[in-house]
Amino acid sequence: MSPESRNQKSEIRGQSAAGIPTSGYADLHLHSHYSDGTFTPEEIVARGKKHGLGALALTDHDTVEGCEAMAIECAKAGIEFVVGTELTSEHRGNELHILAYYVDPNNERLVREISKFQIVRQQRIREMVAAINKLGVPLNADDVFALANCRSPGRPHVARALIKAGLCRTLDEAFERFLKKGRPAWVPKAKMSALDAIQLIHQAGGLAVMAHPGLNRTDESIPELADAGLDGIECFHTKHPLVTSSRYVEFATKLNLLVTGGSDCHGMSKGKPLIGTVRLAREHYDKLKARAAEKKTSTTNAHQ
Ligand SMILES: [Zn+2]
Ligand SMILES: [Zn+2]
Repeated sequence: MSPESRNQKSEIRGQSAAGIPTSGYADLHLHSHYSDGTFTPEEIVARGKKHGLGALALTDHDTVEGCEAMAIECAKAGIEFVVGTELTSEHRGNELHILAYYVDPNNERLVREISKFQIVRQQRIREMVAAINKLGVPLNADDVFALANCRSPGRPHVARALIKAGLCRTLDEAFERFLKKGRPAWVPKAKMSALDAIQLIHQAGGLAVMAHPGLNRTDESIPELADAGLDGIECFHTKHPLVTSSRYVEFATKLNLLVTGGSDCHGMSKGKPLIGTVRLAREHYDKLKARAAEKKTSTTNAHQ
């Protein structure tokens, strides 16, 4: 293995995690209990600190609710914080997730649009529970909402409520029996278009990044979305093997897009927390930060 690819590997997997702090690395994809993660912002920051991460972004699904608490915790811990969210969108019939970074969490249009999608999520939970009930499984929608205890509930909350009620043993069982696409309680979700998501993020002063492209079949859409203003690609992700990450870094370089990365940690939901397993090199994080600052300056100037 060449020294270069060895570096790249530790950048992705962070083999030095065993007790050696590598401050300066960033994890720009994290979920808290404000969406389907299990950690509080405080717990995420404590773990980030333990892993020696120098910058963290909170990217809960369709919400920026946890960002204030996370910003406070990061400031206390001496970690840089990036306000974020992960928007579920679609393009040419394919679902794709767009990460928003450096958005103004109080931007009126952003808040209005994401609250619409929070209502869509809540309605979807009711429909999924109704479908589960039709199968003779007595799950209560209110129990799902009580367990989720957030505005942006999702399928993992239904799965956890099934386990809590003793109706399933594991998350995998809940998804296999009921919740996976094509299973009897799967309900399609209304999504915003990826082009609208990019525009929404930009008008809120942020940068739009395609999340985990390796999990979607949307590579051919990347040039088109780049033309529409997409700012970056999440090249490093827990589910991207090395070869996939390298392919997307190449892709990003060719299209002059930013390179980002994150663990997509959802807390303890799948046993072992992922925070600390994907580390984005400081140079990529600095470029993202600089691009966001440039953008803010040019927007301010344009408004003067
Ligand atoms: Zn995602
Ligand atoms: Zn995510």
